[in-house]
Amino acid sequence: MNRETQSNRGDELRKALCYTKKNGYDLLQPGEEEAMESYCQGYKSFLDGGKTERECADRTVAMAEAAGFRPYQRGMALKPGDKIYQVNRGKAVMLAVIGRQGLDQGVNIGAAHIDAPRLDLKQNPLYEADELAFLKTHYYGGIRKYQWVAIPLELHGVVVLTDGTVVRVSIGDGEGDPIFTIDDLLPHLGSEQSKKPLGEAIPGENLNILVGSRPIGEDEGSDRVKLTALELLNRKYGIVEEDFVSAELSAVPAFPAKDVGFDRSLIGAYGQDDRVCGYAVLAAILQLENPKRTAVCMLADKEEIGSEGVTGMQSAAFDTFMNDLCAGQGVDLRVCYEHSFCLSTDVTAAYDPNFADVFEKRNSALVNYGIGICKYTGSRGKSGASDASAEVVARVRRCLNQAGVVWQTAELGKVDAGGGGTVAMYMAKRNIDTLDAGVPVLSMHAPFETVGKLDCYMTFKAMKAIYEAAI
Ligand code: MN
Ligand code: MN
Repeated sequence: MNRETQSNRGDELRKALCYTKKNGYDLLQPGEEEAMESYCQGYKSFLDGGKTERECADRTVAMAEAAGFRPYQRGMALKPGDKIYQVNRGKAVMLAVIGRQGLDQGVNIGAAHIDAPRLDLKQNPLYEADELAFLKTHYYGGIRKYQWVAIPLELHGVVVLTDGTVVRVSIGDGEGDPIFTIDDLLPHLGSEQSKKPLGEAIPGENLNILVGSRPIGEDEGSDRVKLTALELLNRKYGIVEEDFVSAELSAVPAFPAKDVGFDRSLIGAYGQDDRVCGYAVLAAILQLENPKRTAVCMLADKEEIGSEGVTGMQSAAFDTFMNDLCAGQGVDLRVCYEHSFCLSTDVTAAYDPNFADVFEKRNSALVNYGIGICKYTGSRGKSGASDASAEVVARVRRCLNQAGVVWQTAELGKVDAGGGGTVAMYMAKRNIDTLDAGVPVLSMHAPFETVGKLDCYMTFKAMKAIYEAAI
């Protein structure tokens, strides 16, 4: 063989044998860029309307009702094509579109979580120090504390009175609303603080939210600024200090979702882990008509603190919902589960060239390379991973290839660098074949996280393909 033939042969072999990742923008089909843009508009408005899991659940219900879903009650007769939803305590939502096949053939589940890292108020939060009023917080989920100081914050949540009245609180994102903040040390006096490791520079007990400074009354009391805050809260919400005890109030970043970059190819916003996947699986099931296999969408709470609690993925609420559906068809839940498939859609770390040393680039998800498929998550020796079987990965690969979905493989950082988990293991524990997949994120868990629009859209497209295929 001469040299030229040899190099042609190399090209041919490379084409035939090698797995090469491609930038998703080189793979988009005609018209897809417009579809992606309009999808992302809807996603950004979902983010702006849902800063807590309760708000996301409310928003989900409104969207589901508009798409013809109706609330499900135990014992309700269902037929193929019916669209239903059930809300678990206002914080988690399960939706289903009944398939033409029986539930004994299993279901296709898209599972994501709608809680996000934030600062919860303590149960006795309000105090005054040196004529400034503050709220004490206890952070929820894995935050980097130094990122939460000196940024604008909103307050969202509920206060439940002893008579059962639920008072909804939302301050910061309304027209003309005030916002809040946590103060940080000025650099002029920060030399000692700057010597501390990042994780220690801002202790958790310093994450106190500044809520006022105007004293009330003319006496010499040491709580006149606190009293102002209490009076305003009482006037607006009818609450007194003891009501904080039965409240769930959270401080979340006061930034709306925005396009990022000259080319507007990215979205920056709070809470994209995991509302970016939550919106994708929701949007996919809302578009579904008369599927072969029953489709289930699970939007869970409490993932960021271990999926515990009655609204987390470890709760029997999901099994109860599924069992109720199965009972309607005289199917054993165990039979349904063993034939089911779950795409556990949660974000993964996007390879960040600014922190290249914690990533192993060959196996990292890249921005704009599509939905990242993680055969396993976990940390160290895959600890805490459900580690999907090769057979399951093959089925998903085939389904996504057939649907023209741009996908890539993903692994969260170098083997020894750290790790993370998702709800996948709790689905797998139920004897449901489960695979992790999701959108790669830059600055995950930061008050302002960044994702690629292409990857958001491909996650939606992947879930739609799975719901439509008898995977
Ligand atoms: Mn997550
Ligand atoms: Mn997370």
